[in-house]
Amino acid sequence: MSHADVRSEGAALAILRSTFGFHEFRYPQADIIADVAAGRDALVLMPTGGGKSLCYQIPSLLRSGCGIVISPLIALMQDQVNALRVVGVRASCLNSTMTLDQVRAVETALLNGELDLLYVAPERLVQERTQALLARSDIALFAIDEAHCVSQWGHDFRADYLELAVLQERFPAVPRVALTATADARTRAEIVSRLELHGATQYAVSFDRPNICYRIALKDNARQQLLRFLREEHVGHCGIIYCLSRRKTEDTAAWLQQQGFEALPYHAGLSAAQRADHQARFLRGEDTIVVATIAFGMGIDKPDVRFVAHLDLPKTVEAYYQETGRAGRDGQPADAWMVYGLQDVIKLRQMMAESDAGEAHKRAEQQRLNALLGLCEINTCRRHALLHYFGEESPDACGNCDTCITPVETWDGTEAAQKAISAVYRTGQRFGVNHLIDVLRGADTAKVRQFHHQELPTFGVGVELDAKRWRSVFRQLVARAYLEVNLDRHGALVLRDECRPVLRGEETIALRVDVGKTVRRDKKRGGSIAVTDSVLWELVREHRRQLALDQGVPPYVIFHDSTLAEMVNVRPRTRLEFADLSGVGASKLEKYSEGFLGVLADYADQVPAESLS
Ligand code: ADP
Ligand code: ZN
Repeated sequence: MSHADVRSEGAALAILRSTFGFHEFRYPQADIIADVAAGRDALVLMPTGGGKSLCYQIPSLLRSGCGIVISPLIALMQDQVNALRVVGVRASCLNSTMTLDQVRAVETALLNGELDLLYVAPERLVQERTQALLARSDIALFAIDEAHCVSQWGHDFRADYLELAVLQERFPAVPRVALTATADARTRAEIVSRLELHGATQYAVSFDRPNICYRIALKDNARQQLLRFLREEHVGHCGIIYCLSRRKTEDTAAWLQQQGFEALPYHAGLSAAQRADHQARFLRGEDTIVVATIAFGMGIDKPDVRFVAHLDLPKTVEAYYQETGRAGRDGQPADAWMVYGLQDVIKLRQMMAESDAGEAHKRAEQQRLNALLGLCEINTCRRHALLHYFGEESPDACGNCDTCITPVETWDGTEAAQKAISAVYRTGQRFGVNHLIDVLRGADTAKVRQFHHQELPTFGVGVELDAKRWRSVFRQLVARAYLEVNLDRHGALVLRDECRPVLRGEETIALRVDVGKTVRRDKKRGGSIAVTDSVLWELVREHRRQLALDQGVPPYVIFHDSTLAEMVNVRPRTRLEFADLSGVGASKLEKYSEGFLGVLADYADQVPAESLS
């Protein structure tokens, strides 16, 4: 490290503390900032909520000129700009929603050196007008956010991102930092080659989200399970509930409203105005639930989403990780909660089979679904499995997922599996689960008689298990890909080669004992943010709400919940004590300390802090 780097490290820390009000850098923010501030390129792979923004915001403040941030998420730009202005950073944006007058004003400010950070949409950046503007401006750095959008194989591909390589040719002296929360090696290599970042230092942070508690349970009565989860753990919280169909998002939202929750549907079939309205209400809300299809989420960086619930299975582990990752960006405890059943698997497989995609693509999709089902059915730590899937090693047990909190009971299902598989085989691989269970349990039904299945050797060999248990057996056999659903025959089960060793008695199978109830979160870890005084908590929240309303920004732009919680727990009495709270920088101290200290003082007159201890 050079002397200049050391100097900038001190300066970076000073900005972190005075402007942003945080005490320490998170690993490896300090290294990235030092690199970029010194004019070197960097590629940053960090999970959502890891703290990527500071990695370009602080270097922009350290270097001469304005930092240009390329971001595809126009809807969020204004919030990001507002959040920066609140802490005293001179920020603006350029995008297609602005009038020509607004654009001209921003351009003039940039040319006059009056901006620290400028957010630009990619399509705007590659325009000649913008390129000419940048050529005449003093530029501190280029930050390419959501850099995985260059990947043509990914879901978020943006053609404009491919053109960002010109930055390297036109501005060879300006450092570039590319950032993404997408981990896999292929995407990473694509970013490097398409953006010509061969010389960039790569920073990859663990993709673990330790504050998220993962829970996956068997669907029993999904609505009641959801209701219990919300009532017991998430009253007054923001969250996202994912469903597969538009219809279901609307029905579920309407039903939750009847149950007293502030719930809004969101899907691609709503009008643009409705979608914008629901998204805005969610972003600004403190206890709003959005019930959405996967159309909702890209670019939702609301920090205080306390839970993400899945009422239907996502299609892949990647999708599960991305969707659940929208919870708890502020680092406070959050939940990823899902219920699923055999019907979901059949429905998803059906949707995949009916899509217009080519055979190879369909096969790949089925395999990715199998990986997700594997995650659902494992009886070991979910987090370990999830991270392992992304190529990351971690301890065997995390202590913060359902299987760690309540270890899964298993039973030797070898014999049951043999009976189930043989029932499928003897009935000609033409029947669905319900009939197979009737055969195993020796039921006298019209269908049994119609096909003379009472004459089969497997008829009635499974009376020792009830229908529910048999359902569980079949689900697990399908999830583990011993059996397969034949989609041309309305959900008939067929054998896969994998079941041969089981039939021959060469393989034993440990099956999960299903519990209808979802595991409760570990109390010690707290289901929500821990405050010592809920009355005072409501008072400071109300004050924050008022400030947010006056300034037309979401409440979290004023202060995050974590800062409010610390305020309630510490109860600062002076400006100096207030400045010590994490999240309070010079600008917020100036703007807000008086108001909040007033609230705290009024409350102290009624309830002295000493009386509590
Ligand atoms: P990302 O873009 O990686 O998803 P952000 O940059 O939005 O994450 O940061 C996530 C949250 O963490 C934000 O609320 C941010 O203010 C907070 N944060 C980032 N760095 C620090 C730090 N060094 N100390 C405390 N909080 C931080
Ligand atoms: Zn675990």
